[in-house]
Formats: sequence, C-alpha cells, structure tokens
Amino acid sequence: MSVPMLGFVSTPQVRPEKRAASDRRQDFDEIYRDFAATEAEQQASRCSQCGVPFCSIHCPLGNNIPDWLMLTANNRLEEAYAVSSATNTFPEICGRICPQDRLCEGSCVIEKDFNSVTIGAVERYVTDYAFEQGWVKPAMPLRETGRTVGVIGAGPAGLAAAERLRAAGHEVHVYDRYDRVGGLLIYGIPGFKLEKDVVSRRHRLLEEQGIIFHLGQGIGGGKGEIPLDTLRSRHDAVLIATGVYKSRDIGGPGSGLGGIVAALDYLTASNRRSLGDKVDAPELDAQGKDVVVIGGGDTAMDCVRTAVRQGAKSVKCLYRRDRANMPGSVREVKNAEEEGVEFVWLAAPESFLGEQEVTAVRARRMRLGLPDATGRQSIEPEEDGLFTVQADLVIKALGFDPEPLPEQWDAPNLDVSRWGTLKVRHETFETSLPGVFAAGDIVRGASLVVWAIRDGRDAAQQIDLWLNDQKNTVLSGNFKAAE
Ligand code: FAD
Ligand code: SF4
Ligand code: SF4
Repeated sequence: MSVPMLGFVSTPQVRPEKRAASDRRQDFDEIYRDFAATEAEQQASRCSQCGVPFCSIHCPLGNNIPDWLMLTANNRLEEAYAVSSATNTFPEICGRICPQDRLCEGSCVIEKDFNSVTIGAVERYVTDYAFEQGWVKPAMPLRETGRTVGVIGAGPAGLAAAERLRAAGHEVHVYDRYDRVGGLLIYGIPGFKLEKDVVSRRHRLLEEQGIIFHLGQGIGGGKGEIPLDTLRSRHDAVLIATGVYKSRDIGGPGSGLGGIVAALDYLTASNRRSLGDKVDAPELDAQGKDVVVIGGGDTAMDCVRTAVRQGAKSVKCLYRRDRANMPGSVREVKNAEEEGVEFVWLAAPESFLGEQEVTAVRARRMRLGLPDATGRQSIEPEEDGLFTVQADLVIKALGFDPEPLPEQWDAPNLDVSRWGTLKVRHETFETSLPGVFAAGDIVRGASLVVWAIRDGRDAAQQIDLWLNDQKNTVLSGNFKAAE
C-alpha cells in the first residue's frame, strides 16, 4: 500500500538535528546529523505532489523532486536514488551545500503557511543511503569511441563534465594544479558544511569509471605548466573549467600591513590542516586572535565560522549593509551567530592601524539610502560615524574575479567578456577557439556548485555532439576542428 502524500497538513517540518553550538565550535565536522529513515520518509510525505512543481523549476538542475519524494515516502529508496541521480551528478553534495532557501525549498508552495518540504535533507539522506547500500556505481561506457577530451579543472564543473563524457565512451583526462580533486569543494568550502571524505568518495568513483587524473599539473604559461596549445594537440576537444580565483582587494591606509589576509588563502590553509597536511603559516591561523572578517557573503560566513573553530579570542564580521540586504544565506548567518560570531552591520572599513602588523580596523558607520537603478538600497556614510575595532587578523572576503586567462595562457584569441569571464556560445559552450569549450564559474563568474554541475553536464553533452559531428574530423584520422 502506498503512503498518502500531502502530509504537510498534519506533519510539521522537521530538519535533521543540528549539533549544539558548544559542540560544533570544537571541530570541523558537519553540523547536521543524518535523518533517521522514518524521519526522511515522513518529511518526504509532506510534499503535495504539485502538477507544476515550482521546486523543480527553481532547482538549477531541474531535478524531478516530487517523484523522488514520493518514492522516498514509500521506502522505495533505490528507485528514489535512480531518479535523483539521473539529473544530478553529486546529489549528496547539493543536499548539503545548496542554498535551498533561495532555490528549491524557497519556491516550495507549502513554504508560506506550513514551512517547505526539507528537500535538500531528503536528497542527502537518499544518496548517503544509496552509498551505504552499494547502489552508487560508476557509469561505465557501453563502447569506447577512441576520442579523447582534456578537462582543465577538477572542480564540480570539470568533474560533472568528465563523468558524462566518460559515460559516453570518450577517454577523459582531467588536469588540475591542485594535488587533490574537488576544486573549491575540497579547498574552499569548510568541512562543517561538507566533510572532505564525501568529496574523496566521489573521486574514487570517477577513477573507477576510468577517468585519468593529472593532479599537481597546471595548464598555462607558467613554469612546469602545459601550454593550452599542447593540450589542444593532445586531445580532440578541451574543456576549460578553472573557476575564479582572483580575490577582490581592499585599499585604504594600512591595507598592506601584516595580518591582513585573503579569504581563500585562509580557508585553504584551514582545509589543508583538516586533511592532515602540514601548513607552516601562523599568519593564517586565528587561534588566540581578535579576528575581523570583512564581507557579507557566504565566503565571509565560512571564514568567521572557521575562526571560531580555530579558537579565536573574538570574531567579528563587518558588513556595509544591514542583515536584510546581505548576500549570504540567512541560515548561515544564524549558524554563525549561534557559534558566537558578532555581526557589525552597516560598517565599512576605512583604514587599518598598526606598525608592521595590523592591530585595529577603523570603520565608518553607514546608513541605507534610496534604492538605485537596480532596486538595491544605496549606502551613505554617517558623518562622525568613525569607530575602531581591535584586530590582529583581518580576513578580506569581498568576492572573486577571473584570472586574466588570455594573458596568463598566452592565448590572445581566447575571447573574454568585460568582466574577464570566458565568452562562450550560449547553446554550445564553445569558446572563440575551435574545439575548446568552457563551463562553470570561469564563464558565469563566482556562482554556486549546483550551477557548476549543471553547466558541466550541459557542456559535456555539447562536446559529445561536437565530437560526433563528422565535419569536425579530418581524413588523417587525427581528430581536429574544421576551422
Ligand atoms: P572550482 O570549484 O573553482 O574548480 C576549478 C578548478 O580548476 C580548481 O580545482 C583549480 O585548482 C583548477 N584550476 C584553476 N586554474 C587552473 C590551471 N591553470 N590549470 C589547472 N587547473 C586549474 N557554492 C555553493 O553552492 N554552496 C556553498 O556553500 C558554497 N560555499 C562556498 C564557499 C567558498 C569559500 C567559496 C570560495 C565558494 C563557495 N561556493 C559555494 C561556490 C562554489 O564553490 C563554486 O561556484 C564552484 O566550486 C565553481 O565550480 P567550478 O568547477 O567552476 O570551479
Ligand atoms: Fe535543491 Fe540543490 Fe537539490 Fe536542486 S540540487 S533539489 S536546488 S538541493
Ligand atoms: Fe512538493 Fe513543494 Fe515541490 Fe510542490 S513545490 S512538488 S509541495 S516539494
């Protein structure tokens, strides 16, 4: 007998248990515990099985959410996993780190009066359970095509593309300048949001599938790096999925003092320590320090919460707008506050004090003004609003821009937008260089993991079509673009 859906009328929303803040502060483990089987089934049965499911429409992957919720509610977990993994290469990762309040769950029709279905937590539960049961298998190709693709970047976009391309029978080589697979999943996002063995588990599966990884191998014009042209001559097609890594900087008097560091340097060092690497960089450790993080996005939230776990004396987050206007997820702000982070809203740094090392930040109080052309409220400085915050570690978390690839890679014909992102043909993901495609943050600008997965999957489909198109072959048998 099948379980009736529409349970939201009688069953309240329950999220997986969150560990106590005092406990969370002690380690880098994930903060949410797993759903018990009955909880996952009950929560899935709250779905009203909408004819037009807004949750799916607002999921970047267009996941077939009502179907896998119904299957989960009926304890048909193997089928639920099959449906969910048909559209998502890494559902257990999205279930953990998608900002669901802005995507699927934020659009769930029962959200307004009954609180949404806990879609992300169910997605995570189903996939973790599928791993436990041995249902997650590498997608092996049915035949080998004899064609080869080089993927630059082992982040979610590159990995999602590699997985699809290998499944289609191509020989896939993934090159990454890092020594581990995952991109920002491994060195950016902290373990308390995404434990590292969740990423390594996927790496093993991709290797079993036959994808060949070249780790510690940069592509470009630097020492020891492989030039892009060499890679193009090695492979029939190339995908660039290198993400965006140039940190936005902050100016002003004292901004060159010691103890002022970039967010990604700080987070990478912390993630490396969690992975067991020796990191000899005391300036990237918050222990015993008064920490000020500048910025209001999710990277800033990751920094403040990392600093708490490293044993900082105090942790403050300075953001120039207010709580309602910050770009970071509301859920992450709440988690940070529970863990002891103090938010200083409407505060913009103007200068940094200290001799060699920073000792304090001089900041100015701001007020919100009228909305600008984009509809966002402008900010104006308060006269006489200067104040000082003590700090011996300042972390700049102001966002990221793309590195200038055409110059760095000696590839002047690689077209970029005015923001420095790679220009691609919208439908085909092809760059201005024949046979060279691009996907993920390097095309979109700093975005989300779920969008990187979507782009990687779509780009793989286009590369496969391109490889199968006869006009792209030459008679010598060496596969090459028709220029
Ligand atoms: P990346 O993940 O950046 O991977 C690019 C890969 O390319 C890297 O491994 C890099 O080493 C490699 N590479 C770069 N240049 C070269 C080269 N020249 N040669 C060889 N290899 C190269 N998104 C969410 O959805 N949820 C979150 O909670 C979240 N938290 C975040 C926290 C932080 C601190 C940051 C910085 C980002 C966060 N994001 C989050 C955003 C998300 O991580 C990115 O949108 C996503 O990882 C982009 O995927 P990508 O594959 O395009 O690039
Ligand atoms: Fe929601 Fe992300 Fe899963 Fe889509 S992939 S259903 S947006 S958690
Ligand atoms: Fe179910 Fe909510 Fe999606 Fe409707 S919008 S199908 S209730 S999860």
